[in-house]
Amino acid sequence: MKTVPLSIEEWQKERIKEEEIMPFLKEGGDFIKEDLIRKAVNKDYKPDKKRLEEILAKALAIETLSLEELSYLMSLKDPQSWARMEEAALAIKRRVYNNRIVTFAPLYLGNFCVNSCLYCGFRKENSQIERKILSRAEIKQESEVLAGEIGHKRLIVVYGEHPQTDLSYIKESIETIYKVKVKTKNGWGQVRRVNVNAPPLNLEELRELKKVGLGTYQVFQETYHHATYKRVHPTGTIKHNYLWRLYTMHRAFKAGIDDVGIGVLFGLYDWRFEVMALLLHARELEKEFGIGPHTVSFPRLEPALNTPFASGSSWQLSDEDFRKVVILIRLSIPYTGMIITAREPKRIREESLKWGITQTDASSRIGIGSYKQGVMRQEEKKQQFILGDERSLDELVGDLADKGIITSFCTAGYRCGRTGKRIMELLRSGQEGIFCKLNAILTFREWIDDFASSSTYQKALLLLEKEREEVRCRYGQYLPLLEEYYRRISRGERDLFF
Ligand code: SAM
Ligand code: SF4
Repeated sequence: MKTVPLSIEEWQKERIKEEEIMPFLKEGGDFIKEDLIRKAVNKDYKPDKKRLEEILAKALAIETLSLEELSYLMSLKDPQSWARMEEAALAIKRRVYNNRIVTFAPLYLGNFCVNSCLYCGFRKENSQIERKILSRAEIKQESEVLAGEIGHKRLIVVYGEHPQTDLSYIKESIETIYKVKVKTKNGWGQVRRVNVNAPPLNLEELRELKKVGLGTYQVFQETYHHATYKRVHPTGTIKHNYLWRLYTMHRAFKAGIDDVGIGVLFGLYDWRFEVMALLLHARELEKEFGIGPHTVSFPRLEPALNTPFASGSSWQLSDEDFRKVVILIRLSIPYTGMIITAREPKRIREESLKWGITQTDASSRIGIGSYKQGVMRQEEKKQQFILGDERSLDELVGDLADKGIITSFCTAGYRCGRTGKRIMELLRSGQEGIFCKLNAILTFREWIDDFASSSTYQKALLLLEKEREEVRCRYGQYLPLLEEYYRRISRGERDLFF
């Protein structure tokens, strides 16, 4: 019997499965206890250096902080305490992730959406946006540019919420990307990890998604403040349902996806509340599944075409408070990966390196189909919002190399089963840092051989020499294999990893 396609309205009505929310609720409520958070936000403490050092020692031991400990840190006012916290944040980042920054690119696949999020250029009422969904051939072309011309190995694919970009489209697009293999100057380029930023899926869909080998599954709560959430996601839309979104990661774990990314869109509500809520979310996942978030994202609200809300919010986050947000997340969820995107201007992205961020994008184009078209300018009409930093990957790699930071294209972790609980243990013990270092060296060499400009190449080679020397001195047992892989890569072999 032929199945009749659902209308968009019917499709929307069937999305939310109450039976996949209710079992998670405790005493009828969710885990974002607003009264607790409010008390923690408003509490005054007598400044006490010993207390500060005790809390920092706990964070440096890569232990998740309590709400009370975060509340103490947040209450501090003096610049000296914040300088000390910044120092500790960087030390934690170095301990867990060493001197590497992982890079990736966003790939927007479709901007049709049934929701009306007040802050987003893709909301359904926005008639000024050009709507498009990439075909399989177009996805292939975009991926060929990303993997074969720019040299990205890691993508985050992004979708609106719409029946035309439902699970079957998401799966097909990921499969298409993984199949791309392009000849490069000295070897070949391929996307090795596809992370997904998609609307909340149900349990069955998440099980299906797992089968196509996704990296991290990201869904941002946007705001954890219940009343604000309801206000900015209007009644009658799928996204209006706070709990459906809040428990997405619970469903993901149940479906066997154990690399999950959470986040807040800062600028919708009080940042202090949101940082506390992020910690509660991480602690809830740790308690229920033994694993916290693989990444935390903290985008700030950016202007978007024909979207006055995005420029007029009274909760816009200042640069000074943004610094506090990043430091506090680093300290309170010390093992987690922290992503800063090209939404932020270059100056903030560079400063944030001192606050403990671990991942960033480059050469980003967020218009649908913009990579293939070689679009150099931003295209407001096709974008969800406007980017603040348009540096190319080559420029970013060179700028980071100037600071002694190695750009890592490593995607080995999840392909060798270093995910979920295992990766958390490795990160906490500092063990993952060693693998990361070795794989960063190898993938960096791959990338510079294929894609670097001559000035970036020279800087990168010097950095690689230093890195290999460090391995020789500190991790001698890995040196023979590292050197063998390194030689083979410089002769054109690819994808050798620890
Ligand atoms: N449509 C899906 C959803 O809402 O879950 C996928 C994500 S959306 C395309 C990607 C993220 O962009 C959102 O979760 C939101 O945090 C962020 N975003 C939306 N509008 C923004 C704006 N004006 N400035 C900065 N970030 C924005
Ligand atoms: Fe749609 Fe996501 Fe934009 Fe909301 S944030 S309008 S769900 S694309």
